[in-house]
Amino acid sequence: RRGECTAVRCAAAPETAATTRVKRNENFGKLQAGYLFPEIARRRREHEAKYPDKQIISLGIGDTTEPIPSFISDAMAKAAAGLGTREGYSGYGAEQGRPDLREAIAKAFYPGLRKADEIFVSDGAKCDAGRLQMMFGVDRTVAVQDPSYPVYVDTTVIQGSTGNYNPASEGFDGIEYMLCNADNGFFPDLSKVPPTDLIFFCSPNNPTGAAATRQQLQELVDFAKRNGSIIVYDAAYALYCEEPDCPKTIYEIPGADEVALEVNSFSKYAGFTGVRLGWTVVPDALRFSDGTPVKTDFNRIMTTCFNGASSIAQAGALACLEPEGYSQMMNVISFYKENAAILRKTFIDMGFSVYGGINSPYVWVGFPGQKSWDVFADILEKCHIVTTPGSGFGPGGEGFVRASAFSTRENVNEAVSRFQAVFGSS
Ligand code: PLP
Repeated sequence: RRGECTAVRCAAAPETAATTRVKRNENFGKLQAGYLFPEIARRRREHEAKYPDKQIISLGIGDTTEPIPSFISDAMAKAAAGLGTREGYSGYGAEQGRPDLREAIAKAFYPGLRKADEIFVSDGAKCDAGRLQMMFGVDRTVAVQDPSYPVYVDTTVIQGSTGNYNPASEGFDGIEYMLCNADNGFFPDLSKVPPTDLIFFCSPNNPTGAAATRQQLQELVDFAKRNGSIIVYDAAYALYCEEPDCPKTIYEIPGADEVALEVNSFSKYAGFTGVRLGWTVVPDALRFSDGTPVKTDFNRIMTTCFNGASSIAQAGALACLEPEGYSQMMNVISFYKENAAILRKTFIDMGFSVYGGINSPYVWVGFPGQKSWDVFADILEKCHIVTTPGSGFGPGGEGFVRASAFSTRENVNEAVSRFQAVFGSS
């Protein structure tokens, strides 16, 4: 038996006999559960074994389901075929990415705001989050939205920048959890947040689906400026924004270039979750306390620990930013947004408190007074639908589950029928 799981979390697997004298990085021992999504996958497998005849629908992990649009996949096919010819072959590229792609990203996403040489092309936003941790080093303090995408907390813990898990607070000592809930409109009360070196901030947010307004982001930038903090702004869902007051980049906020870097990705825009292509923006004006440009050190990280994004993936990204590719990509986003609208309406009609699902592919559904993992288990047992328990994103997510709109329309419609059959009268 490998490890022990209660309804809420898992204990580490029992130790087996050592084969080396190498001491384990003790920070791994601090991590509480297996990473959220592997745990969900384990429970799904258990459910499949119990009900082999039932067709499980996943609205759990935020993985894309729609094929990559043809203009974009054709460009990648062409790049791959070219690699098989003498003329089309290329080896290592620039670690920072193709110059034309950096230019195209700056033009498409940051017109008049950022320059191409401030864009670092990568293999994804999650990978960049890890590399940023390496750049910032161990000795700094961190604040996160609560709930938040688990990668910010877990990479901070692995890096050794936190104390132990504290069962009383259900968080790690040394991390500031900025509560985001319905009472504060899913934007933290910054007057209650102590200064930290780094502030991880994701908008539109995973998991709550909330999108910060211009005014709120200005507050955040001013707060960082007052405290001398750096904001790591995760804009991985920026193109899902549809309301007018939903900035698509932190750099729309005056002064942000001095306090914020931004990570982003084609994963949820063009179905590049498997292709892998993201980027990080590090403005020239962003400096450490000794005046060193952050860009200098991030460039060093990228040239030392990364050898450039796949040339095929970069060809795909360039195609995403050509007019035909861009319009096909936006169609995919619209499709997922329709799914989100269907799910959102379903839960609202059934009388639940529902958030998100407008500027985001995630619908955040409240089950007040209940434990998220219990609700997750109940939905799996009765509807054969996988959701994501809110508490997996931090203590502030307790009492919620996240439904992801990354699914086929057929599955969303089937999920709606099952939800209505089970919860329709609640
Ligand atoms: N950031 C957020 C907020 C996400 O939700 C995800 C994926 O779910 C990522 C980053 C990961 O992006 P990538 O696939 O580019 O690593």
